[in-house]
Amino acid sequence: MDVKARDAEYIASTYKRFPVELVGGQGAELIDDTGKKYIDLGSGIAVNVFGVNDEEWKNAVIAQLNRISHASNLYYTAPQTELAEILCTRTGMKRVFFGNSGAEANECAIKVARKYASDKYGEMSRPMIVTLENSFHGRTITTLAATGQDVFHHSFGPFTAGFMHVPANDLTAMQEALEYHPVCGVMLEMVQGEGGVNPLDKEYVQAVAKLCDERDVILIVDEVQTGNGRTGTLFAYEQFGIQPDVVSTAKGIGGGLPLGACLMGEKVQDTLTPSSHGSTFGGNPVATAGAVNILSRIDDKFLAEVQRKSEKFVKGLTSIKGVKSVAGMGLMLGVETEKPAGEIVNECMKRGVLLLTAKTKVRLLPPLVITDEQIEQALSVIKEVIEA
Ligand SMILES: *Cc1c(COP(=O)(O)O)cnc(C)c1O
Repeated sequence: MDVKARDAEYIASTYKRFPVELVGGQGAELIDDTGKKYIDLGSGIAVNVFGVNDEEWKNAVIAQLNRISHASNLYYTAPQTELAEILCTRTGMKRVFFGNSGAEANECAIKVARKYASDKYGEMSRPMIVTLENSFHGRTITTLAATGQDVFHHSFGPFTAGFMHVPANDLTAMQEALEYHPVCGVMLEMVQGEGGVNPLDKEYVQAVAKLCDERDVILIVDEVQTGNGRTGTLFAYEQFGIQPDVVSTAKGIGGGLPLGACLMGEKVQDTLTPSSHGSTFGGNPVATAGAVNILSRIDDKFLAEVQRKSEKFVKGLTSIKGVKSVAGMGLMLGVETEKPAGEIVNECMKRGVLLLTAKTKVRLLPPLVITDEQIEQALSVIKEVIEA
């Protein structure tokens, strides 16, 4: 049986896959089973920050594999402490809890907000978390409840109680939510990724941060997709001039291995206590050794390059006839087109460029190491397809 038939027979049908089997590659170039090459503008959904087959990351991972590949969190292992130190030093956050995915990082963030309020104001006195309409926070029953899209609120009920959703960039709606409901936390994506690559207004984010501060509400920023250099700073919130109480991240942090992190600031640094939370795999030494390598290379020079490449993409994309708008930050871009996005993605795939969609937009999440030549080649294919 070939891979497609075996997949159809044995894999849960949760994914609408493209008819491509990927077998290898280097950096932003991917190769399928027929030897056809593609320029990757998806990074495995913002995961492969340094592309695939990255030599330095592989060396870090292999070196750790040759020492110890897993230990329970009942024992110390060095890589997770190194990674936590890097994350805290570079963000001003105080402590890190490691899990294995974005959903788990958000679960932790939600638990932190609720426990902070429980400890301080009494059990269940402030259970509510406010998130934004059109947000995406994960696939567990709780993070689905957190997700502000009705399409995710069917078939799996009852969902976790205690979530409400308000329109993005509507300060009055947020103010009212905080005024009239027992809220312990607000959770925001700085750029809604799955929701269509929509950056929040800076003034709105700053005003929400101020409201949270005044009311002792925990501000959680979901940087699962926007984090780890994706938007041109280590985390996107830096560009909004705020300091969140909690930051969740995953996707790009592991450089390709499953890893999620929940970063806790000063206010909540002592909220999680022994046995209040845990994970068997969380902070796995191999994944965190890889992440130490990834984060140590996302320095100011590298981030400036992300910004420069972003400008190159935006300039190229906006000059295409049939492109209505380009939104996003850094190398997280959403393109609104006259033609249906799905059609453009399929045509580009045939011509060797792998793209994503987000709602009605074409979405670009290239590896941050994509070369100028690859950007130019990809842009010329996208232009050809959109203008055809
Ligand atoms: C992808 C994503 C998640 C979920 O991450 P998983 O690793 O798939 O659980 C949560 N929040 C945002 C903003 C995401 O983009």
